[in-house]
Amino acid sequence: MLDKLYDEAARLAALDRYSILDTQPEAQFDKITALVRTVLDVPMAAVSLIARDRQWLKSRQGLSVCEMPRDASFCTHTIQRREPLVVPDTTLHPLFADHSAVTGPPFIRSYLGIQLTSADGYNLGALCAIDLRPRSFRDAEIRIMSNFAALVMDEMELRLIAQSDFLTGALTRRAFMTEMDRAWSRFGRQGETAAIVLFDIDHFKKINDSRGHAAGDAVLRAIAACCAGQLRGGDAFGRLGGEEFAILLGNTDPREAALAADRVRRSVAALRVDSLPDLSVTVSLGIAPLTSEVASLDEWLARADAAMYAAKQSGRNRCCADDGRRLERS
Ligand code: GH3
Ligand code: MG
Ligand code: MG
Repeated sequence: MLDKLYDEAARLAALDRYSILDTQPEAQFDKITALVRTVLDVPMAAVSLIARDRQWLKSRQGLSVCEMPRDASFCTHTIQRREPLVVPDTTLHPLFADHSAVTGPPFIRSYLGIQLTSADGYNLGALCAIDLRPRSFRDAEIRIMSNFAALVMDEMELRLIAQSDFLTGALTRRAFMTEMDRAWSRFGRQGETAAIVLFDIDHFKKINDSRGHAAGDAVLRAIAACCAGQLRGGDAFGRLGGEEFAILLGNTDPREAALAADRVRRSVAALRVDSLPDLSVTVSLGIAPLTSEVASLDEWLARADAAMYAAKQSGRNRCCADDGRRLERS
């Protein structure tokens, strides 16, 4: 097996599981970087995450930009090792002496980086302290920073737990909306296409009434597992309400979204729940591609909702698109 320090594909997959890149600042991380600044008496501190080709800062104090190319990043060197990276004077360090942020603004003179390591052992980024004067970092300060780095990882884990629904493991409504927001920005920035597929279980009340609430829960779990198994990287799956779910399809045009929705429809109809072998269940789905006419996240969701309602109205166990088209079943 490849050493985790050098298995970049697995490291990026681990980072991806936290779904944190390009999210808004959050107070729990900003509190930690503010503490780093005070306790170590440095002008700059950051929670930095190293993506494929860029460094992105979840939290920053005293730094003006929130991302930079990976090859300009100090922390990319920190994640290539297991011990803290301590640089008392950047002008004397072979890796940094010629760095543009050392020879030019902001003239970084010292750096301390501690790895942010996932529970499964991948270095996702670094908690760093930066000074504009040369300085030593005492052992006690390095230990304090290591404790702060562990706190950052605790917060990342908690954030992950808070994002997923307890019964089905799908994203919560709030977390799903965050994913929609990220897709929305990518569409605005790079024109990257996306679509959402919203679906609701057909006659779910009957299942609860005739088989009991626990059986209903088993159906919810089985449907969620079935959908989660069909996602590609860049997709997201959420439970928006009781028995209503949504899939966000990244990099997907309307035709592909329709095919994906119908695949979900068919696989749910074919699903057999272990504890309920004689039960069959169907879903009605509404598809809403992201276009420049969609004015807000709420409108995007409302379009999918209206399409789903049309699917219910026209007989259930079918997909409708937000332009009112009922899609041919394959
Ligand atoms: P329709 O085809 O029109 O969607 O009919 P329906 O019976 O599915 O109607 P509706 O969507 O209104 O029913 C939702 C039901 O889902 C009612 C509620 O008791 C049940 N439900 C919501 N959350 C849960 C849950 O966590 N577990 C279980 N077992 N049932 C739930
Ligand atoms: Mg419902
Ligand atoms: Mg329903």
